[in-house]
Amino acid sequence: MARLNLRWKVSFHLIGLTAATILLVAWSINYALDRQFTQYLITLDEQRSGMVAAAVEDIYRETRSWSLSTPDLARLSAMTNRWIQIMDPQGHVVFDSAVERRGMTMMHGRRVPVQPPRDAYVVSLPIHIDGQLVGQARLGSLVTEQGIFSQEDLEFRATINRSISWAGAAAVILAALLSLFLSQRLMRPLQALTTAARRMARGELEQHVPVRGHDELAYLAGTFNDMAANLSQLEQLRRKAAADISHELRTPLTTIRGYIEGMRDNVLPTNAANWQAVENDVERLSRLVTDLQDLAQAEAPLWEKEPFNLNDVVYDAVEQVRPLEPTKELRWKVKAEHDQITVLGRADRMVRVCTNLLANAVKYSPQGGTLRITTGVCENQAELRIADEGPGIPSDQIPFIFERFYRVDTSRTRTTGGSGIGLTIAKEIVHSHGGSIAVDAEYQGGACFVVRLPLADS
Ligand code: ADP
Repeated sequence: MARLNLRWKVSFHLIGLTAATILLVAWSINYALDRQFTQYLITLDEQRSGMVAAAVEDIYRETRSWSLSTPDLARLSAMTNRWIQIMDPQGHVVFDSAVERRGMTMMHGRRVPVQPPRDAYVVSLPIHIDGQLVGQARLGSLVTEQGIFSQEDLEFRATINRSISWAGAAAVILAALLSLFLSQRLMRPLQALTTAARRMARGELEQHVPVRGHDELAYLAGTFNDMAANLSQLEQLRRKAAADISHELRTPLTTIRGYIEGMRDNVLPTNAANWQAVENDVERLSRLVTDLQDLAQAEAPLWEKEPFNLNDVVYDAVEQVRPLEPTKELRWKVKAEHDQITVLGRADRMVRVCTNLLANAVKYSPQGGTLRITTGVCENQAELRIADEGPGIPSDQIPFIFERFYRVDTSRTRTTGGSGIGLTIAKEIVHSHGGSIAVDAEYQGGACFVVRLPLADS
């Protein structure tokens, strides 16, 4: 069986709902009419039955005998067009218009009602003469004899039902047209989204669907556009990263190959200095691979967070970095403005941020220079400042130094051996903690890095 698409589903539901509403209205109108008319006719009939009972009393009063009253009672039955049964006080049937039918089914041109119809509405009334009970009259109702409705009543009801049917048909047609129009309007943006999503699945990531109005579909279209833009940006970053990484790997590999081929072909002497050069490049390669691995880890979202004291992290990092360059005889000035600066996140990752920044500070510091490391709270955020007395960072380079593989001065980097990933790792970790990392451009006499992190209780 062919599957219904959403458009037809919406239409069918709307048409079904309209038809059901019309049927319900028709049913309730008919029901109310039936009830009201029946009630009205029953009341009318009860009044008439009272009058017939009075006539029965008059007839009996004439003769004082039920058997002598029989012809008059039969006439009354024919004239009032109802079934009459009389029982004496002992409960014996003394007159029954159904029995009297024999021989006089017609009287004054009317048929004598022979017996109460099925489900007859029978009224039972006592017959009193001078305060004495002389019998019980049972009167078969006109209501059921003729049916509840007169011809006019039935026609009135038929007219109403006809009007309801016409109105119903018109409403269903209108509902069908409206639902087709509405579902068409609903489906158009969905179709555009489906087409765009299919294209994205095929790898065409630069997709944009029109956003019309301010409803949920417009919101969905806007969200889709954002998602497509992010995906395409990520794809560009991925391509750039792959290109950057292969470029970074190629340089040391080319050098290593040059040395090995030179020594093999005896163009270069096979001596300790050349082997050392090969070893340096291998070392650089392995550092690069480790850094890349660390970067991937730093970019992963931070799921498990725990509170830690920023001061502990800083002391830990200082202990790790301090022994690295003993010959430089640096002066370390570590200052904590508060004993406890609680931050939520991963202490081990923040240690990594500090060691990267401290290692750079050590690397670029002059002989006997001073390192100033300060922790504190600024603008309701935890703050870490690491300042050195090195060459600093030119202000036009500041926006780029956190980019992957970016080095301010490549010739300087060759001597320092950096891969240009250290600050990128630091930035990713800080961002995953909801913080920021920047260079204090105002700082004179060296470089000053400022890390800010949200406080745990803010
Ligand atoms: P690298 O491994 O090359 O140091 P980083 O990402 O850590 O890579 O740093 C990127 C660049 O920023 C470095 O090449 C260097 O030029 C500059 N830089 C970082 N820290 C300092 C600093 N304390 N003083 C001067 N320049 C710095």
